[in-house]
Amino acid sequence: MNKTSFNQVVKPARVRIEASTICQLKCPSCPNAAGEIHKNIGAGFLQYEDFKKIIGDNVWIRDVELSNWGEIFLNPDLLKIIKYAHERTIVLRADNGVNLNTASDEVLEALANYRFNSITCSIDGACQKTYSIYRRKGNFEKVIENVERINHYKSKYKSEYPILTWQFVAFDHNSHEIGTARKMAANLKMNFVLKLSWDDLYTQSFSPVTDKDLIGKETGLGVSSREEYVEKTGKEYIDESCLHLWKQPQINFDGRVLGCSCNYRGDFGNIFNEGLVECLNNEKINYARDMLLGMRESRDDIPCTDCKLYESRKRRSAWVKDMYGKKQEKKKMRGYDSTKLLKRLLAAAKRRMRRGYLWEGLRADFDRFLWHRVATRLKLKRSLTSRVYPLRIPLPAAEEDGWKPYPLFNMTTSSMKNLSCHASVLNGNRSPHLPHAHDEEEILMLLWGEVDLILPDRRGPAVNQRIHLEQGEFVYYPACFAHTLQTTSETPANYLMFRWQSGRTTNKSPLAFRHFSLFESNNGSKIKDGFCSRLVFEGPTAYLRKLHCHTSTLTPGAGYEPHRDDYDVAIIVLEGTVKTLGRDVGPYSVIFYRAGEPHGMRNTGKSIAHYVVFEFHR
Ligand code: SF4
Ligand code: SF4
Repeated sequence: MNKTSFNQVVKPARVRIEASTICQLKCPSCPNAAGEIHKNIGAGFLQYEDFKKIIGDNVWIRDVELSNWGEIFLNPDLLKIIKYAHERTIVLRADNGVNLNTASDEVLEALANYRFNSITCSIDGACQKTYSIYRRKGNFEKVIENVERINHYKSKYKSEYPILTWQFVAFDHNSHEIGTARKMAANLKMNFVLKLSWDDLYTQSFSPVTDKDLIGKETGLGVSSREEYVEKTGKEYIDESCLHLWKQPQINFDGRVLGCSCNYRGDFGNIFNEGLVECLNNEKINYARDMLLGMRESRDDIPCTDCKLYESRKRRSAWVKDMYGKKQEKKKMRGYDSTKLLKRLLAAAKRRMRRGYLWEGLRADFDRFLWHRVATRLKLKRSLTSRVYPLRIPLPAAEEDGWKPYPLFNMTTSSMKNLSCHASVLNGNRSPHLPHAHDEEEILMLLWGEVDLILPDRRGPAVNQRIHLEQGEFVYYPACFAHTLQTTSETPANYLMFRWQSGRTTNKSPLAFRHFSLFESNNGSKIKDGFCSRLVFEGPTAYLRKLHCHTSTLTPGAGYEPHRDDYDVAIIVLEGTVKTLGRDVGPYSVIFYRAGEPHGMRNTGKSIAHYVVFEFHR
């Protein structure tokens, strides 16, 4: 396989798959309306079976942009595509733009119900008369009505998705309505973006702005056209489109790889014949990348050769290397991308502020990201030590968002890179998040209420993707196993979650997803000398030589003297009271014993004490 000039195989988690090259409108500057798109890349829709195949064959894809040259809502398979993506935890977007003139109520409902991530609606006017000057054949009232329907379903499903953006392309004929449109967008709970027009990028220019100061001010760019933008910044307005070749390649509805969202002049192979990774790394696409890096002359069979953006790059000697290579070098030197990290931290802070656990979250982030980096560099050690974490169940119902996590700890341990534990309260009929998969392994134990686990990765005709969980039941999630849960009881559910990661011992966890009940496992156990113990399960995982679980019972007064284990241990008291690490510990509290630290235990209550033990052997 060819590698790019950065010596990397291109295999991005984000791709663009055209859901439709067909559009019902006739916008004057659009190459689709001019017939160019159908002539060059065909008129058609992404089929559900093809979408499934792309996702199934390329499991590393996590994020798909569906919109580009046509209107996605005309695609008859859209509902099935949205549903399937949701089941596979794939993020879907339509941020390149939709006109939203024609959409069934079923699809609008699915957008909210299946958490379609974001939609950018092209609405260049605040009334039918102005809107239809550019969006010819478009119906302004219908678009607004469809936005309102989406908002209705967002409230119904208590979903913040899809995030809606009103995109207003600035022309001369609509500049007087920018203010009104901005207000309407706010009333419709939409973001508002004022965009410069394509000018003559694809076909002819239309209604060029005359009030340049107004547009310069309203866009915040200080310019009113793409030409002025290049003069002022030395960059094209859509300069970053070329990066799609590396970061977010465009695939046509029929499987042809177009590379970027601007190209309709030729392709780089068909993924259904040659495979996606092969198409993204063949000689032709790498030649195109080298052209954009300014390392090779243009070639007739490369679509970029006839692109106005490429001509502009060539004229200005503004090669991709200048904006991508340096960043790449910096990232390589630092070993991480600080901009991305900062963005993620800010987004997480916002989310946590909404959910009311900002400080706990920041502390957890510090422990996870920064402390680990600092400690590794300075060869310092600050990891989880033996401690009791009291917990009172049931936790108060979550006020906002219907979910509130209570972080207990999140640190390195003597044997694991990271071990965290949190208790969560989840109100009736709520899920904490969409099904997600991650590198860490987890144990989820239900302490209160009832939930359904939703497990898209469990497959097969006899396998139900939902598992009902009652108090005292728990599950083990191997790494990269998609999951979420939903409360089915009227009372809020409370659960504990242990999550860990370390250097892998194998690529796949030998211990598969498992579901256990603590009460079943304790049936028939015999107490001897005030103590009995029963194995629940044990086995190797991707990060642990052995993950072991047993339950123990102590009669009043019984216990054991302090001793040391050579593995980390987490205990959850299920009933009764025990004394350990110098304090009395009641039901649902969590105890952590660090490997090598002494600990003993005694039942100091008047009734039997019952607890579950997890051992993390490295
Ligand atoms: S709505 Fe979009 S795709 Fe359709 S004609 Fe207008 S610009 Fe082209
Ligand atoms: S030069 Fe044009 S066709 Fe080539 S990647 Fe850039 S935008 Fe796309």
